[in-house]
Amino acid sequence: MEKRIRHSIFLLLLCFGLIIWGNTIQQPISAQDAPDNPPFFSGERAYAYAETLLEIGGPHVTGSEEIKAVGDAIIAELEANGWEVVTQEFIHVAEGIEYPVRNIVAKRGEGPITMLASHYDSRMIADQEIDSTLWDLGVPGANDGISSTSVLLEFSYIINAHYEPNGQIWLVFFDAEDNGRITGWDWIIGSRYMAENLEADFGVTPDDFNLMILFDLVGEKDIDDYAEGDPDEVNAHQQEFTIEAHSFNSAPQQVEDIWTLAAEMGYADTFIQRQRGPITDDHLPFIERGIAAVDIIDLNYPYWHTLEDTLDKISPQSLERAATVVEMYLLQEAILTQKEVQ
Ligand SMILES: [Zn+2]
Repeated sequence: MEKRIRHSIFLLLLCFGLIIWGNTIQQPISAQDAPDNPPFFSGERAYAYAETLLEIGGPHVTGSEEIKAVGDAIIAELEANGWEVVTQEFIHVAEGIEYPVRNIVAKRGEGPITMLASHYDSRMIADQEIDSTLWDLGVPGANDGISSTSVLLEFSYIINAHYEPNGQIWLVFFDAEDNGRITGWDWIIGSRYMAENLEADFGVTPDDFNLMILFDLVGEKDIDDYAEGDPDEVNAHQQEFTIEAHSFNSAPQQVEDIWTLAAEMGYADTFIQRQRGPITDDHLPFIERGIAAVDIIDLNYPYWHTLEDTLDKISPQSLERAATVVEMYLLQEAILTQKEVQ
């Protein structure tokens, strides 16, 4: 009985979430509001996607009803924006329990594949909390998972509205990225499964790929106004993308071009020309198969893997800054061409 009531409440919340979602997708910017020239990426719209997904999901850990709802909403939005969507589903067994895992792939175009990617699960345990009694709670994942997911959804919108791809664009949403150092789990389970099953499940080989650009933790709000003596002052922070080592080794030219372009756009303080060590992230299994991949990641985020990784820690400006650099890079490389204005 109790379970049935909880189930009903969940369904009600889900319906409510879908209504909100429905409203979001029914608000395309009017022609008047849309800029005439690139970049078209809207941080405000990406932020609205993030808000909606967090309302639908809360902590949305692999195998949960919440991540099912978030994944369904992602698929609905991709299809509404005219993408062909396929899923890759498998079971992960941890300590004898079976967890469904679902990667989501949206495609359009013909020819060499440029992949834009993100994970969309949130970590099962908030083990960066100082109070270990809180560790059993899932991470909300506003920056860690949802920020980059929202960036991809906004790309799905602007590419459909404004661009023709020269080649294929794949928008890839990985499940089960964020459960390393948990018994029965690992990091990057979803992306590793996809990279190892490209031929069987997608009918492609590594040679079919041009480039992978991975977004992770791309929404951190700039905070530089802590009062003197504020305990958070040490965390006065801004978005910061240093050059991750696997990316540099795998795609040195692309890394140089992206960070140079960012500097030309006035973002040298964000896209910092400094190398940092390697990070185990969703690009790694693809690099191991010979695919060039660049990870745009900000690991200098004080709320990482805590219960404070919430919507108020990300901003439209930060989402837009990270994404417009990639939008302009895709144009510069003629991976996207602007549609003729009717
Ligand atoms: Zn994480």
